[in-house]
Amino acid sequence: MAKTQAVRGMNDVLPSETPIWQHLEECFARVVKSFGYSEIRFPVLEQTQLFKRSIGEVTDIVEKEMYSFEDRNGDNLSLRPEGTAGCVRAADQHGLLYNQQQRLWYQGAMFRHERPQKGRYRQFQQFGVETYGMAGPGIDVELMQLSSALWQELGINSHVRLELNNIGDAQERGEYTQALRKFFIDHKSGLDSEALRRLETNPLRILDSKNPSLQSILDKAPLLADFVSDKSKDHFDELLSLLDVAEIDYVINPKLVRGLDYYNSCVFEWVTDALGAQGTVCGGGRYDGLVEQLGGKSTFAAGFAMGAERLVLLLEELTNLRDQLSKRADVFILVRDEDCIGAAQALAKNLRFHLPSRSVVIHYGGGKVSSQLKGAIAAGAQFACILESEQLKDSSSLRLRKLDDVGESTDCFIADVPDKLIKCLL
Ligand code: ATP
Ligand code: MG
Repeated sequence: MAKTQAVRGMNDVLPSETPIWQHLEECFARVVKSFGYSEIRFPVLEQTQLFKRSIGEVTDIVEKEMYSFEDRNGDNLSLRPEGTAGCVRAADQHGLLYNQQQRLWYQGAMFRHERPQKGRYRQFQQFGVETYGMAGPGIDVELMQLSSALWQELGINSHVRLELNNIGDAQERGEYTQALRKFFIDHKSGLDSEALRRLETNPLRILDSKNPSLQSILDKAPLLADFVSDKSKDHFDELLSLLDVAEIDYVINPKLVRGLDYYNSCVFEWVTDALGAQGTVCGGGRYDGLVEQLGGKSTFAAGFAMGAERLVLLLEELTNLRDQLSKRADVFILVRDEDCIGAAQALAKNLRFHLPSRSVVIHYGGGKVSSQLKGAIAAGAQFACILESEQLKDSSSLRLRKLDDVGESTDCFIADVPDKLIKCLL
């Protein structure tokens, strides 16, 4: 019978890969803590309505990428395709938004039925932050500083660039949409079927097209920047000067509109050239209208989300972290004779107590000491404790071997091993 495979586009993360994931998670947790953000956790399932009302009915995500179904009660539910909507729902439901400021972060799986390819999957992991109650532009820049601090921490800051755009408010975007529709009607013959459909539903989304043959038309399209009000411009200009003070480089990308309807004012992406087509590692911006749109009180809001898989790919491509983090053991206890297992376990317990930050592994299953040694070296251990029956019985000692190129070994009383290793390993 054929074996059952994983669902297409949903990946297993194997033991050889998890150290990089853990490193990323630790770095992210450290950076958000240093900026004073608190973690929030919310469910992977929400009412489908929540995503329709926030992300927008005529976005790729809601139109064709959501995993939606009716549950046994007949409720329409969807696996979350992103975190912002659920975060707003949870924060508002529990009274975290009214008349207060919040700095929140989350981490978790998101689900979109996209065509799987490098950097694009159907289940993927996002790190996100959301802030509430701050009109900016200070908070906008803080979000960019926070992400920038993470790139620094991960050692990839020279491989990502910040792109931003001012997309104005809903009314300004409405006027722009009219102009855009008129422009695309005049250039209808050059549009593809997707764009023609968008022309009816949401012309702004045509700017998001990845079809290269559309680019020459897109280059001539009216610019959103020409439609935004002085108030929106002032916010953006102030933000740019704060970025200069913060010494964060940026490029303004007038075509950056983001694929979700709730954004307004400043939107941004961190982009890399090292991952091919899936170059956006982080995207975000302001979404001042969303809380009210979902039934809450009007609340300033801004946030971003980053794709963990793309960051892992970047770390694998640009650093040698995988090798650095591959170590599974510091001390390996080799057991030449089966009747030493009890003594090996007692020694391991003692070492773990004295060296709580180190890993102690016992070899089970016998075999030649030489091949056990190979296993210890492959696990990255610095020391091997070699236990054999006779030596144990005669003198309560073992052979302690340093696993470097020299491979020096000495006899050592079992009772002295912790002290000796503490000196060498700490
Ligand atoms: P893209 O333009 O690459 O489709 P997006 O605009 O749809 O990205 P967002 O919804 O803003 O992405 O999500 C934020 C981040 O999450 C992206 O920048 C990306 O790093 C990551 N991401 C989005 N979709 C996927 C996916 N299907 N697989 C892996 N990562 C993803
Ligand atoms: Mg997308």
